Amino acid sequence: MARQFFVGGNFKMNPGSVEQKKNIIDILNQADLDPSTEVVIAPPALYLIPLKGLVRKEIQLAAQNCYFKTSGAFTGEISPTQLVDAGIPYVILGTFLPPAAPRYAKTYSIPSGHSERRTLFHETSEFVGNKTKAALDASLKVILCVGETLAEREARKTTEVVNAQLQAVVDILKDTAYWRYVLPDVPGSTRTQVPLCSNIVIAYEPVWAIGTGKVATAVQAQDAHAEIRQFLKTRVSESVAETTRVIYGGSVTAANCKELATQPDVDGFLVGGASLKPEFVNIINAMK
Ligand code: PEP
Repeated sequence: MARQFFVGGNFKMNPGSVEQKKNIIDILNQADLDPSTEVVIAPPALYLIPLKGLVRKEIQLAAQNCYFKTSGAFTGEISPTQLVDAGIPYVILGTFLPPAAPRYAKTYSIPSGHSERRTLFHETSEFVGNKTKAALDASLKVILCVGETLAEREARKTTEVVNAQLQAVVDILKDTAYWRYVLPDVPGSTRTQVPLCSNIVIAYEPVWAIGTGKVATAVQAQDAHAEIRQFLKTRVSESVAETTRVIYGGSVTAANCKELATQPDVDGFLVGGASLKPEFVNIINAMK
């Protein structure tokens, strides 16, 4: 089954001015974009709503984070339901390693998230896990980041680390309907069954490649993606493995995207730095 190519732009806390932001949006609005690629941009939360009105309608918006409660005294946070209310369909989150899970605790004491959130903001595994579940509960789609550090790769632990990160998600969701079917209950619409895998895009983001200019080779990316698909096949189901998009993130540029995109298990990209530049258009059009 063909998986739709997916390109996300993670603007992080950029750009620094409204004028720069306008330039990026103008470029995207005027560009000849491959209509068969799903495109999502994730600006800082403050700009989600204004950009939704400014960017062409084929480009969807993602929040860079969300909290796991619906509402309450949580200063500075945004809830998944508030994002849905604002018409934002996606959120970027990381996977997590439950500190309480004995089989992971020995090897991995540091929990994960988007690597910048776990290293800079010390997010715990349980916290990110709750956010993942809350986001799916609210019908947000999740871009789920996984990936190993350089030390873990050099110790040949990439598959072990990524599988543990994925297993932690499966563990928290396994008693729910997420890995089977959800029944969206939208007033006025017909109730249909939707496989959960369409609500999760897995982003393989080796920590050593994020923001470093050091991109994984096409072979390294393909190997890691194939392992992720194998994990989904054995631990979830063959159909989830077949249909879930696994995208690559880490120093993707116009110069390296085409070769990465030719790999059979690379279904797109999560782009940081280059999503703020005109070359983002070339990355969106990598399959053209
Ligand atoms: C990211 O932060 O998700 C990312 C992939 O960043 P960069 O493309 O700058 O490495």
